[in-house]
Amino acid sequence: MSALGLQAAPIEMDCVGCNECGTRQQLDRSGGNGILVCVTCRTPLERRGGRSLAAALACSSATLLLLLPANLEVFLTTNALGVSRHSILASTAGVMLSEGYTWLSVVIFLLIVVFPLVRFGLLTYVLGSLYLGRRRPWLGWMFRWANRLEAWAMTDVLLLAFVVAYARLEVAISVHLGIGAVALIGAGILSLFTRATLDKAMVWRAIAPDQEPGHPTTSIACTQCELLVEAKHQGEPCPRCGSALYRRQPASIPYTMALTLAALLLYIPANLYPLATLPIDYKPTSYTVLQGVIDLAKAGFFGLAVLVFCASFAIPVLKLVGLGWCVMSVMTRSRRHLVAKTRVYRTVEEIGRWSMVDPFVIGCLTPVLDYSAQIHGGAGPAAVPFTAVVVLTIISAKTFDPRLMWDAARSRS
Ligand SMILES: [Zn+2]
Ligand SMILES: [Zn+2]
Repeated sequence: MSALGLQAAPIEMDCVGCNECGTRQQLDRSGGNGILVCVTCRTPLERRGGRSLAAALACSSATLLLLLPANLEVFLTTNALGVSRHSILASTAGVMLSEGYTWLSVVIFLLIVVFPLVRFGLLTYVLGSLYLGRRRPWLGWMFRWANRLEAWAMTDVLLLAFVVAYARLEVAISVHLGIGAVALIGAGILSLFTRATLDKAMVWRAIAPDQEPGHPTTSIACTQCELLVEAKHQGEPCPRCGSALYRRQPASIPYTMALTLAALLLYIPANLYPLATLPIDYKPTSYTVLQGVIDLAKAGFFGLAVLVFCASFAIPVLKLVGLGWCVMSVMTRSRRHLVAKTRVYRTVEEIGRWSMVDPFVIGCLTPVLDYSAQIHGGAGPAAVPFTAVVVLTIISAKTFDPRLMWDAARSRS
């Protein structure tokens, strides 16, 4: 039998509930370092290869250390008309605030400054405590919030945005990297390594072991730490992570529908109006999402043009269509393509955050393109609806409970 199977005599086996389809199953962790996938929907439940507590702790603490100079040191310097402009990461949000984009500046400040510091601070504390064998009672709560901020701490997305911004600046004006930019490159790469080396299931078991509930078929699986608890604890906090326990996410479909519809409506102005203004040949030039892609291709940055097209145009479309398909599946109690729908949902949930590239590019450019009426850059009218589409679709992916698709299909006997 394969490494994932249902077996009769468990050795190092735990009963877990799949968060994508709701199937209860026993995981055999005794063999190898492979990927353990759900028997029903094929979702990876655990990836063990290349993951360890020590490696994740090293990557997380190094990311946290590099985030300090990335936020405090000079980020970019430009020269024009005999003067220079410097930026630091936090000034990105400050300049947008002074130009009247209050909501946008707050969102960008949270995503690139506050959430990365909080996530990597919490993660480093939790992993460091476990590494030293100190099991504090609040570690479950801290690790839950570190995981919740995983989608919202966008140092890696900012790294891609920084590369695009640098390419755009290079063709328009004289530009130099500061220590802050070098530290950001290191922090962005190490944040990806942290993700790749972190075995969440192992950390949860180190915080508190999995347990076998009396009735596995009626038990509730915690959506945050995957602990199985008795059904009578519905509505109570999870004993391991403190998250409220529900058999299924309450009001999942109305919330997901409302958020997806709002995002769909905002997607229209987000693509019709100019996203930002840039000086090209010493002339302020506005560009929409698709014009920005064409400009990058014309300047010879074909790879970046493809990346920005995927992040800013293709991914939002995939998110809206994918979430719509999943919601319709629940409403029509469809039994078709459930594995494919679950995979689409998982993809939407994982890649949605990369659409923030374009707003971050604007954030990187604005503070260092403030010279004169001709040499000036900043956000355009589409920047706010575009960012709102990204934020709303990330939230709607979180409010959707994919197990409802499987429940609805099972109920149609
Ligand atoms: Zn599953
Ligand atoms: Zn939990």
